[in-house]
Amino acid sequence: MLEEIVSALKKARRVVITTHTRPDGDAIGSQLALGNYLKRQGKDVLMVNQDQSPYNLEWLPGADHIELYDASLRHVEFIAHADVVVILDTNVQERLGSVGKQVRGTTSTKILVDHHTDSENWFDLTLKRESASSTAELLFELFELWDLDGIDHDVAAPLYVAMMTDTGSFRFSNVSANLHRMVAELIERGKFDPSILHAEVYDKKSIEGIKLLSSVLSSIELHYNGRIGTVVVTRRMLSESGASVEETDGFVNQVLSIEGVLVALIFTETERGTKISFRSKGDHFVHKWAQSYGGGGHRNASGAFIIGTLDHAFRKAIASAPHFINLPNLETSSELSDEDAAYLNSLMNSQNN
Ligand code: 5GP
Ligand code: MN
Repeated sequence: MLEEIVSALKKARRVVITTHTRPDGDAIGSQLALGNYLKRQGKDVLMVNQDQSPYNLEWLPGADHIELYDASLRHVEFIAHADVVVILDTNVQERLGSVGKQVRGTTSTKILVDHHTDSENWFDLTLKRESASSTAELLFELFELWDLDGIDHDVAAPLYVAMMTDTGSFRFSNVSANLHRMVAELIERGKFDPSILHAEVYDKKSIEGIKLLSSVLSSIELHYNGRIGTVVVTRRMLSESGASVEETDGFVNQVLSIEGVLVALIFTETERGTKISFRSKGDHFVHKWAQSYGGGGHRNASGAFIIGTLDHAFRKAIASAPHFINLPNLETSSELSDEDAAYLNSLMNSQNN
């Protein structure tokens, strides 16, 4: 399959590359690495997404060439007449936003490169592996087969950032010796300083973001004998801190770092409903839990969106935890404890003040 993908890309003249809504480092880094690589091979490339890139990735080489999908004649035409469409870092149409319908409907060769579970099957060629640390790792394999000499700084830097962000700076369980070999290759070919790239991505927080972290962390709670930890991001916390919701990225990992916590959840209140992010340790998988709310992701990192208030989503998720997580030596109650309920009430009331 990898050979077929490389051959389809070599033959193609016009290539569309797209990725998921609310794109993260692996999404944008992979898109730019592939886009910059293909441009060097003389291809006519359109990088187009439903949503804006996060502010801390705007410096990546080529980031200003990523277009926001606007259903304009130019976009629709380019997609319709593309030889190849590459879908990165998601395997479901819905997560592509309105770009999804457009690319699924074309007759062009649709190539999927992804590492999530439970793929849809409307793609013509697929490079997918759940155990891969990142979409970027799979792209590296593609470049390896094609020609590693095509990896210059503008390919290596975004690919490195993609791997770094999806592995929690090379510390999650998806990190392998093989990934480190790829990273070594990227540093040599890209001639960049890893510490500078790390700082570009992670040391750009605002004081407002840190104040938000402080109020979010003060909402911390442990459930089921300390096996499950939660924090909430209310709209009030957001407006009082003055920070943007993007700055909550990574907050949930603070909860997971508590000894004994198996699963950490962060609930983010939005205008339309509540976003839940799930993170877990070891073999306490959370993807099925997220799927039960229409979401999905990886075994140790998933997400879902619940239409309804924060209070509703919180109660629902906590109550259903024992259905999805093996909570050892516990009396698992399906109700929220009195203490949890009281806490939540106080939180909700304080928001109405
Ligand atoms: P995060 O919690 O950082 O938003 O997402 C963690 C992982 O879960 C990501 O790999 C992402 O692909 C997946 N994910 C997050 N939200 C959703 C969602 O609403 N639907 C699906 N299918 N996956 C999601
Ligand atoms: Mn990814």
